[in-house]
Amino acid sequence: MESCIERIKNDIENITKITATPNMGCTRFSYGKEDREVREYLTKEMKILGLSINVDGVGNIRAKYMDNNEDKPSIMIGSHIDTVSNGGKFDGLTGVVTALEVVRIIKENNIKLENPIELIIFAEEEGSNFGTTMVGSKFLSGAYKLEYLKRLKNDEGITAYNIMKDFGLDVDNVENEVLKKEEAKAMVELHIEQGGILHSENISIGIVQAIVGMKTYRVSLEGVSNHAGSTPMYLRKDPMVGAAEIITYMEKVAKEKALKDTVATVGKIHCQPNGSNVIPGQVEFNVDIRDVETEGIEIVAKELINKTKEIANKRGLKYSIDLVGESDCVKLSSKVINAIEETAIENKYVYKEMNSGAVHDSAMLTGITNVGMIFVPSIDGLSHCPQEETKFEDIKLGCDLLLGTVIKLGNMKVRN
Ligand SMILES: [Zn+2]
Repeated sequence: MESCIERIKNDIENITKITATPNMGCTRFSYGKEDREVREYLTKEMKILGLSINVDGVGNIRAKYMDNNEDKPSIMIGSHIDTVSNGGKFDGLTGVVTALEVVRIIKENNIKLENPIELIIFAEEEGSNFGTTMVGSKFLSGAYKLEYLKRLKNDEGITAYNIMKDFGLDVDNVENEVLKKEEAKAMVELHIEQGGILHSENISIGIVQAIVGMKTYRVSLEGVSNHAGSTPMYLRKDPMVGAAEIITYMEKVAKEKALKDTVATVGKIHCQPNGSNVIPGQVEFNVDIRDVETEGIEIVAKELINKTKEIANKRGLKYSIDLVGESDCVKLSSKVINAIEETAIENKYVYKEMNSGAVHDSAMLTGITNVGMIFVPSIDGLSHCPQEETKFEDIKLGCDLLLGTVIKLGNMKVRN
């Protein structure tokens, strides 16, 4: 029994045709016109399978396949359907269409499981509308409250609350729709790796052990803006060179002082007034620090704070450091990892045990249920761009592994 590559391909092709940026990758924001069209497509497919469909207040779609087992907790499978601007065809969607395919096969073959299967399609994972990622899964897990949506705004200043309401969602009810422990037996998300490890090692399957935690700091340095010609070097208070020292030091700390997997990145920097003949008055940059061990993140964070203080004092700069984003390191469920690994071994699939450097929706559910993740390779490690690609043969293999895992979990006594 295996998945049908043609059906998977067909779903991906049909859905990725729906984009706000034709010929320039997939742009499909939650609560937009394209999102609605994709939801209609998927709803039609789910109705063919006889799923019982519920859409919650923030737009998460929860669709259940029941077979005289509705009193039991569900095995949840799925991912997200939204994208970044000019993103790829496979991020998120791969996990959704493979989950749909798993339900098709189970129904077609009349496979009896102890538990229902719940297809979960998370809304607003990428943060494309409001700059906050995983809004759907954070609400499903109860991490966010309704009030938050009334403060959260898009670039035009419209609140998330109003956008969701206009989309036709029953936003006011969202707090009553938090996933309960007794509703779920496990959650398994298949996702593209979005990095180059599997591709470079020519392995088709990654079994995720842990998901990195992260801290993002915004560092602001303020000096004195002045003429680039008439201000001698010894009279300057230049925040740009201070920033350069700190940024270079961050690389050194992540490489040499922190742990094996710690990474630190400065990908965003803003300088004022940003003129080539002006000593800047202010420089602001973000430092993104990640690791699967909290200790690694803390080492870099501490060094960042100390170094910024030291450089600011040395150069006569004012400074501030703000923690602007944070998520915890997550170890995935050994019960689900074992089920995935046993299935892979039984089917002689070559796999790699690995960690995820990106945070995913299912990580938000680890406090509620047993969570596992399957990765399939991203060609050349590219993601969040139109060139993002995964071989359909690898997706099929991932789908077969997901199918086998669901069957194993559905025949297994797992306690939360
Ligand atoms: Zn994704």
